[in-house]
Amino acid sequence: MTMTVQTLAPLLTEKLLSSFGKTVDEATNKEVFQSICLLMKESIHPNWQTTQQKYVEAESKQVYYFSMEFLLGRLVETNLLNAGELDLYKDTLSSMGFNPEEVFHEELDAGLGNGGLGRLAACFLDSLSSLQLPGHGMGIRYKYGLFQQKVVDGHQVELPDNWLRDEYMWETKREEKAIEVRFGGTVETTYEDDKLVFHHHDYERVLAIPYDVPIVGFENKTVNTLRLWSAESTTNHFHFNSSRGHDYYHYLDYKRSVEKISEFLYPDDSYYEGKILRLKQQYFLVSAGLQSILRRFKKQYKCFDLLPEKIVLQINDTHPSLIVPELMRILLDDEGLSWEQAWKITEKTVAYTNHTTLSEALEKWPEAMIEDLFPRLYMIIHEINERFCKMLWFDFPELREQIPAMAIISYGNIHMAHLAMVGSFSINGVARLHTDILKNRVMKPFNIVYPDRFNNKTNGITHRRWLLNVNPDLADEITKTIGDQWIKKPEFLKNLQSFATNPELQENIAKVKHENKKKLATFIKDQYGITINDQSIVDVHIKRLHGYKRQLLNLFHIIYLYNQCIENPSLDLYPRTFIFGAKAAPGYTFAKHVIKLINAVAEKVNNHPHVRDKVKVVFMENYQVSLAERIIPAADVSEQISTASKEASGTGNMKLMMNGALTIGTEDGANVEIRERVGAENIFTFGLSSEEVFSHQHRGDYRARDYYNNDSRIKQIMDLLVNEHFSNDDVEFKDIFYSLLFNNDEYFVLKDFDSYISAQQAVELTYRNQSSWLQKSIINIAHSGYFSSDRTIQQYAKDIWNIKPQR
Ligand SMILES: *Cc1c(COP(=O)(O)O)cnc(C)c1O
Repeated sequence: MTMTVQTLAPLLTEKLLSSFGKTVDEATNKEVFQSICLLMKESIHPNWQTTQQKYVEAESKQVYYFSMEFLLGRLVETNLLNAGELDLYKDTLSSMGFNPEEVFHEELDAGLGNGGLGRLAACFLDSLSSLQLPGHGMGIRYKYGLFQQKVVDGHQVELPDNWLRDEYMWETKREEKAIEVRFGGTVETTYEDDKLVFHHHDYERVLAIPYDVPIVGFENKTVNTLRLWSAESTTNHFHFNSSRGHDYYHYLDYKRSVEKISEFLYPDDSYYEGKILRLKQQYFLVSAGLQSILRRFKKQYKCFDLLPEKIVLQINDTHPSLIVPELMRILLDDEGLSWEQAWKITEKTVAYTNHTTLSEALEKWPEAMIEDLFPRLYMIIHEINERFCKMLWFDFPELREQIPAMAIISYGNIHMAHLAMVGSFSINGVARLHTDILKNRVMKPFNIVYPDRFNNKTNGITHRRWLLNVNPDLADEITKTIGDQWIKKPEFLKNLQSFATNPELQENIAKVKHENKKKLATFIKDQYGITINDQSIVDVHIKRLHGYKRQLLNLFHIIYLYNQCIENPSLDLYPRTFIFGAKAAPGYTFAKHVIKLINAVAEKVNNHPHVRDKVKVVFMENYQVSLAERIIPAADVSEQISTASKEASGTGNMKLMMNGALTIGTEDGANVEIRERVGAENIFTFGLSSEEVFSHQHRGDYRARDYYNNDSRIKQIMDLLVNEHFSNDDVEFKDIFYSLLFNNDEYFVLKDFDSYISAQQAVELTYRNQSSWLQKSIINIAHSGYFSSDRTIQQYAKDIWNIKPQR
């Protein structure tokens, strides 16, 4: 029995009455939203139960994706879309007098991630369920997600993200599945029955409570689990004594220290801070997650030798790499296996994804910190390191000199990437260029020792959210042209290629883009009071604010245009709207100065009579998944301009091409593979190659000052930063000025300026020829199918995990 508006409306009315005691006329949007969730759960939960039961019956191998971040955004549209009921609900809501968009937007973004790494984890979960693969997420239920960004006088201000202030509708608390995680204490070693035995004393007990979120597959009945752990205190071991009132205060101290563990997400992206609480979070995730997995495993299977056949532990970057010694600890101490047995199992069960080669992002924890917090793990890491170094010494004499650089423990630090590589059977990069840099440079000696471990899995994004859901009108045009096969098999988008020059499709696609721009323009007008031209080129730079992502280079182009317009008021410039969305880590001073500069430039540009009709600059506050969903469908130009070699993959690039934007980008990360697929004539490539960047770094022959002295455009722009043009208090801009000249422009902004300006001129020239632009746009959409995370996940499933769909 298929549902219709006529059958759904009464159900929703009934739910409003039974849950909130409200009639349709009285109900608020929030109550309607919550009623939808309650109705949805009535169909999701039985399928969830059945899916898990099927996995047990079939003895399926299960993947657990351990990640400190899951940047889910809203789930309501995804869950409705995947249930095949999105349009039904939209129609029903409208018929009942509600605005569907307003109702859906009652759901707050689950912002449990910083950026690309966390969003990747969320796309992977969607693909796992949609491909009916037995794969689940393990993460932390941070009470506060990534901070909310406000802009005050052009400066970023951070506010707490209290995303749990209303109930989180999708989660189910599973108190009965709590796990105890132990911190600190001492380890006593004794000899019993010819065996060394390790007793852990005086540790702090932390209760890990799982909250499960169902991950619904697209038009199938598969529902996998995202398990998010919350830290709570326990009174079990406290002996409250009426004669000792201070016990109560001890307890309160303990409770506060425990609850801090899952209190907030660290807001650093691609930067390692070395905070003890962060290390506690990492172990908390690893220990709770692993114990719960092994408890299930033991219920079903007798022998731990089966573990690598039944379980894969995929770690998202090194953050969960304590999983290696933690698994060893459980196998050795709790299960009584020998070191050799335990190591064989561990090495075959853990797989590691590397996400960056930036040295400031590499995790290394002081030995003393690890020893204090996890005394038994410390002993195990020591043993792993000893054995690894010995193996190098004897089996790889050619690497003897490199042992200090390869060791897990060196100069008082524990190197988590080394631990992860030594302890796993697969080491993957996230785009081909990135994997090649790992193999040939950053991790070269490890590739000599473990050549079979290294592999590439180019990132992807779920086309269900990033096309079908955010841009339904474009999806309709595609379906009208090539049929709907692409929805289940995104590689079929390729069939669009032969329609790239079709005038009717071009016209329809242009219409959809224009409608999307009008919607965005309305939003921008409402939010910021800025009027943008909906016929202008919409040029978007949306991602975390980072030196290597070079928002500054984009800004230099804007200031260049500004100078040009002022010098020549009749300059024939095609109108352009530059949109920025970016959060800076709260402690990243340079990044915050760039935000201030963007806003200062926007103020000037948007108000200058000779500029404002040609160039507009909008900094959109609080860049997060739901904001990306508004911006991306309206974009013409996708800024992917990182210093070559620095961006491991990027996924924003994929979302934008899938929505018909053309990329202006460097030969970095997945841009390389985008170019390869769409062809060089359908992307605007510029700048140094990664090899050229490495060569300048190696030879030390780049002199930023020469570019300031010799390129009058650059000098004119940079002088504006320090002569109080953009603000009368611009110490911040002096800092940017100095980082370019005296710190010798670490990210080659000045070096790439000229070729960037040329590429931008090519963008404008091409845009003026609409049919040529639309042809390129269609070709980009046609090749975006490859960048669906369905493809990525199928590669993981086949090459790393060895798992099959369970239908
Ligand atoms: C996709 C996405 C990112 C990653 O963007 P990049 O351009 O790949 O750095 C970051 N934040 C949000 C909210 C996203 O949706």
